[in-house]
Amino acid sequence: MAFDLIVKNATLPDGRTGQDIAVAAGKIVAIEPGIAAEAGRVIDAAAQLVAPPFVDCHFHMDATLSLGMPRMNQSGTLLEGIALWGELKPLLTHEAVIERALRYCDLAVSQGLLAVRSHVDICDDRLLAVEALIEVREKVKPYLDLQLVAFPQDGYYRFPTSVKNLERALDMGVDVVGGIPHFERTMADGAASVRALCEIGAERGLMVDLHCDESDDPLSRHIETLAAETQRLGLAGRVTGSHLTSMHSMDNYYVSKLLPLMKEAGVFAIANPLINITLQGRHDTYPRRRGLTRIPEMRAMGIPVALGQDCCMDPWYGLGSGDMLEVAHMGVHAVPMTSREAIRWAFEAVTTIPAQLMGLEGYGLAVGKNADFVLLQAADTIEAIRMRAARLAVIRRGKVIAETAPRVAQLALEGRPALVDPSHYAPRAAN
Ligand SMILES: [Zn+2]
Repeated sequence: MAFDLIVKNATLPDGRTGQDIAVAAGKIVAIEPGIAAEAGRVIDAAAQLVAPPFVDCHFHMDATLSLGMPRMNQSGTLLEGIALWGELKPLLTHEAVIERALRYCDLAVSQGLLAVRSHVDICDDRLLAVEALIEVREKVKPYLDLQLVAFPQDGYYRFPTSVKNLERALDMGVDVVGGIPHFERTMADGAASVRALCEIGAERGLMVDLHCDESDDPLSRHIETLAAETQRLGLAGRVTGSHLTSMHSMDNYYVSKLLPLMKEAGVFAIANPLINITLQGRHDTYPRRRGLTRIPEMRAMGIPVALGQDCCMDPWYGLGSGDMLEVAHMGVHAVPMTSREAIRWAFEAVTTIPAQLMGLEGYGLAVGKNADFVLLQAADTIEAIRMRAARLAVIRRGKVIAETAPRVAQLALEGRPALVDPSHYAPRAAN
């Protein structure tokens, strides 16, 4: 039998080595050692890691690559970022939003990032960004799964036409219900918005993903309402609380009651380490809070946690590179969570866990799944995070859609090796 593609001698994220992966008609048809067959293309993985593609479950594609337009964020806060985006919004054009989004998707693909959940701001009566990103979703479909969230950036009740615009956006085909309860004018409005948005999700049979408690205020407790509403409406497995940074500052006793509720309700959590490590704690002197949510405690409770990138060169964050390994790397440091087990988990938090959160069909390295995967210049998942490893080959439906040369340095040092490959440096005792 002839295959379209065979990848030889791969190491898999679960630690299996010496595996060949055979692909036909866009699907994985075999994963086993020593597949002897003809193939249209053969790639020698040379014992390096082959992983399912990276997934970014929290992003803002309408704002990406807009850094500096119309000015920079001076305070570095979430609130100035929102104000700055408000200044930019009336200046947006359909073509410019599409152009920036497509350029970002090129970067994402080069990094092996093939699925993105992007919030799209509906607080603009033109719904210009919604129209543009729906068009982008179609354009990138052959190479990237883009899921859109109807996001009332300026508040669901606080902005006068959000209630109507959110329904309009969903009618236009936006996939997920969004919200921002901590930005409403009162705690009561915030809680009411959570209830209303979950009801919309239930009625329409959609997933719900709220920016929730992105604040250093320990009394911002909308995640409690979100979990309770998830339970009340039977939405287990369809609801996500994004950010949850107030949990960093909450009273420990309260958290010990909150986490079991989240677990029972079946909500997902998303932490965005790059962004929250820089946006939170801005009103502190010293000690200065990191503001990241309680990842190890949620994991210990069995609550699924994914890591998102959130921003790339926009009003909230001036850096970013579409590299989900950078996100995992920052998460490991910022939490901190440095055990070998936790670092391995961080790789899952940018691949399989967000894929489950987004409900991606056909995702994963297994027979019968889509032939989507990434060959990395790394021996295993920990090494991939340590080096933010080069994506040697990115495969979508069995076709190579991006390639990067291995990162190897030439040394000119008397008596020392001529080449340095950073992926050959892990001490043997490390495993
Ligand atoms: Zn966000």
